[in-house]
Amino acid sequence: MTGGLIKTVIGGLIELKNKCMSLSLEEKFEKMTEIRDELLHFKRSPLYSYRLENKYFPVVGEGSHSAEIMFVGEAPGKNEAETARPFCGKSGKVLDEMLESIQLNRSDVYITNIVKDRPPENRDPLPIEVTAYAPFLDRQINIIQPRIIATLGRFSMEYVMNHFGLKDQIAKISEVHGKEFVAKAEYGAITIIPLYHPAVALYGGSNKSTLTEDFQVLKKYL
Ligand code: URA
Repeated sequence: MTGGLIKTVIGGLIELKNKCMSLSLEEKFEKMTEIRDELLHFKRSPLYSYRLENKYFPVVGEGSHSAEIMFVGEAPGKNEAETARPFCGKSGKVLDEMLESIQLNRSDVYITNIVKDRPPENRDPLPIEVTAYAPFLDRQINIIQPRIIATLGRFSMEYVMNHFGLKDQIAKISEVHGKEFVAKAEYGAITIIPLYHPAVALYGGSNKSTLTEDFQVLKKYL
């Protein structure tokens, strides 16, 4: 076989594999509903009893099931746990502003978190919590099949980069924010863009302008 023919055959096989991996919107909806139901009954979660005591909800995620860009935050806060919607409090306002700054509709992206239940007092997620909830995020990534994953904050950056074989390139978020990392997902190529968590903009200083500049990187994928 000639080199050209081998390339064509391999290209065809990859296309076939990607076609097999792609899901209809109905299938995506069904699979997301399964995740929601599992999360509702996720009794072995370290955050399950805290959720019940406070009559909170798990926060699965929100947005388009055919989104090309997926945002992954840390964990729900109080507002989110009370409404079951990600990023609907103060940080959510910042995220909305950032999306607007690049003319991206919230309804055209998918927004979720690595940890799906609220940790007490908005503390950082614990490693056992990340480990417990990460398989749900992995499934969501394979359902949505985004071309871009923009991580919001260091916890999702570390998990997502590690998950996609970029362990060696993980550094402090102050060093990698706004950079693009190409990796391979089960369904094809993806680009991971670590961003600061929107909450940084609430602390003042130049944080907000850095976040705004970093969001500009997403523009080339729209
Ligand atoms: N912070 C997050 O990381 N996620 C949310 O959904 C809200 C605040």
